[in-house]
This record gives sequence, C-alpha cells and structure tokens, in this order.
Amino acid sequence: MRLIIGITMLSVLLPKFALMCLSGLYRHKKISIFTRAYSGQNFERIEHRTITVANRALSDIDTWLLYIQGKVDLVGPRPMNFDAALRVDKETDQRHNVRPGIISPAQVKRTSGIAHVSENELANEFAKNASLLRRTQILVVWALQKLFSTRAQRLLYPPVFKLMDVTIDNLTMKSAVAKIVNGLSDSRKAATVKKYAFVNADCVNKYRSQPQYKNTLKLFDSVFADGIGIKLAARWQDLGVSENVNGTDMFPLLCCELEKQKKSIYLLGGSPSVVKKVASKLNREYPNLQVAGFCDGYQHKQNPAALHELINRSEADLLLVAMGAPQQEQWILDNQEHISVNAAIGVGGLFDFYSETVSRAPEWVRELSLEWIWRLAAQPLDKGKRYLIGNPLFLFNAAVAARKAKQKPISFKTSNVDRG
Ligand code: UDP
Repeated sequence: MRLIIGITMLSVLLPKFALMCLSGLYRHKKISIFTRAYSGQNFERIEHRTITVANRALSDIDTWLLYIQGKVDLVGPRPMNFDAALRVDKETDQRHNVRPGIISPAQVKRTSGIAHVSENELANEFAKNASLLRRTQILVVWALQKLFSTRAQRLLYPPVFKLMDVTIDNLTMKSAVAKIVNGLSDSRKAATVKKYAFVNADCVNKYRSQPQYKNTLKLFDSVFADGIGIKLAARWQDLGVSENVNGTDMFPLLCCELEKQKKSIYLLGGSPSVVKKVASKLNREYPNLQVAGFCDGYQHKQNPAALHELINRSEADLLLVAMGAPQQEQWILDNQEHISVNAAIGVGGLFDFYSETVSRAPEWVRELSLEWIWRLAAQPLDKGKRYLIGNPLFLFNAAVAARKAKQKPISFKTSNVDRG
C-alpha cells in the first residue's frame, strides 16, 4: 500500500519537478539543495532534502521518498527538528514512539480552531492512541477540510470585533483562560463580579428575538466566539475568529489553571444528580482543585437568598452557572450584587457533558465542526427546533449582516473602548 501511494504521489509530482529543474538550468538560475535533520521514530535521524531553483522550493519529492522508505507516515506528529528532539524529556515523550507524519493531528485541529493545547501535547496525545481508525479519521477530516476550505482570503483578526450586534473578544482558548484566571483578584469580595459568556449561532438567534438578552451581554466583560456558525458569520465579514472558545473545551484547561493558582470554584446549575456527579468527578480528576460547593439549577428559584448565602459561605473565587442561555446570563446579572465571587461564567450544557449524562461528539466530529449534528441526533426533540430551523435562520441573518457590513467602512474596536 505504502509503495502504491508513494509511487502515485511521485508520478504526479516528478514531471513538474523535472520541468522546473530543467527550466532553472536553461535559464542559469541558482540551484541549491538544503538539508534539514529531523527526528524520526525512536529518535532516528532523518535527513530531508529540499531542492530550490532561484531560492524557490520545488515540489517536495524527498518526503515521498522517505515515506516509501517507511521513515515517515501519512498521518503522524509533525517531524521535530533533530537538535530540538535531543532536548526533550525522554521519560515523558510519547511522540517519538510513532513515525512523524506528512499530515499532523495538530494541523487538522488548528484548521478546525480547536487546537487548544500545545502542538507537543497534541503529538503525545496522538501517539498514545495512534490506531488505524484514528489515522483514517484524521486523513478523512483533512481531506474534507481541504475540499471545503474557502479560497485563500486575507482575513483580519482584530482582538475585539462586533458581530451581529454583539462585541466578541477574539481570543484563543489559552488567552481566554488566562484572562479569566488572572482576573480573579486576591481579595474575595471584588468590587464587581467579572462576567463571561460564550455566544454561538443559537445565542444569536435568541438575542435577535429577545433584546433583553442582547443588553445583558453588553454588560459582560467578555463574550467568546463559540462554534462554526460564528466563525462563518465572521468570515463572511472578512474577519477571522482566533479559535473556537466554548465552555466544554475550556473546562479542563480552566481547572488546571485554577488548581495551579489555588483558586476555588462553585458549581451552579443542572439537575441535582448531574451537578453532584460533576463535583465528584472534579475531585477525582483535579484533586488539588478546591470545589467550594455546588447547587442544582432548579431548587434555588423559590429562595434566591438561601442560594446567595450558600455561595457566599463557600468563599469561592469563581462561579460557573450552567442553566442554558440566556437564563444563566440573566441570573448572573440579576444576582451579582448579592454574591461575593470574583467572576462568573455562563457555561450552558457543560455539566451535562462533563458528568457524561449527555455524550459529547467524538473527536473527529468536532474536528469537522459538526458537533451540532451530534447534539441533534442525541436530543432530537430538545434540539430539533434549535438546529433545523435555527441554523438556516442564523445563516440567513449572518449573510444579511455581512452584506450590510461590507457596505460600511470597517471600524474595529479595541479592547478598552465602550462595548455597547
Ligand atoms: N438548567 C438549569 N436550570 C433551569 C434550566 C436549565 O439548571 O432552570 C440546566 C439544564 O439542566 C441543563 C442546562 O441548564 O444542564 C442547559 O443546557 P443546554 O444544553 O440547554 O445549554 P446550552 O449549552 O445549549 O446553552
């Protein structure tokens, strides 16, 4: 199989390669060979040659020769520079257990906007489960990404932009976590509760019909871009979303950071059994994270003062409110004066996913940005209207907004200006 793929690729690339070489020779252009040393499986030294004509690299023939020799795979971690590989911690390194790849898992995740950890962590993660199934999934996702990628256009990535009436903090996941955690002050009773929300296509549909929700979001410190819908709507206005920042992917990174900074959390929302499961799973997975307390999202409705008392007595730094949008954002706004936490985040269905009450889409579905199809299949009655009617409606409104935006000169807001 390897031989067939390798020879097919070489037969496609070689004619162009030969033609460029000959034309370079004929025009007396400078032809050079660059050799780079990479680290292969088990730290084997791999030499990779690139031929350049007048400093322009020709088709990559050597990679396919290395592929035929079995030194690289189609799918695998990006080859690491040999000198850098000598410095890695051999005890914990997993990426060198497998061959480097022509297509890397990190590359696929980056295109989907869900590469939330470092490339090295992604490479190690892949090496732990480099099954044929996982490799095939990555290959298929990569091919589909190539097929559906829109023409290479120059997108702008402003730090903050306004999309369909809401100001989006265009941060990567890492920066969003840093912003939340660094914003937790040392004194428990901060002057104001910092408020964070995630906005996806469904939220946009909701705030278009409920102006109160839109006004609430305007009072939040940061609103993060969640999902393929927002990414598309932004792209239609020539704006790039730095990364898909959603509560479920943020949660493990947030917990690690809170653990390091010795900050505590309070969990509010979900059914009584769900929130309890979340608390016990957190205690198992993050033994050094202080879960200051938890409460379901239903019983407090009759007695908000009792809930304020519970939260305040817990002395939690950060409050996670999982009651679905826009109820959770409204709750944060209405109750902020009565609670003594530093910050609060509306996290939607996070507790249902983390407690494994609702199954999350597999990795390859998320890489294809099709998590919503999974949610629709899992909860067709609950989510049918949201996705089957909501998605086309959102796309229509996004297209209208893009048309309007293109008629106006673009003006970007910076982080410090009025968010209204
Ligand atoms: N929920 C709650 N109190 C309520 C209504 C809902 O705690 O009064 C919880 C519900 O149990 C579920 C979550 O809010 O865990 C809603 O999840 P959904 O998937 O609707 O949120 P989304 O991520 O879509 O905003």
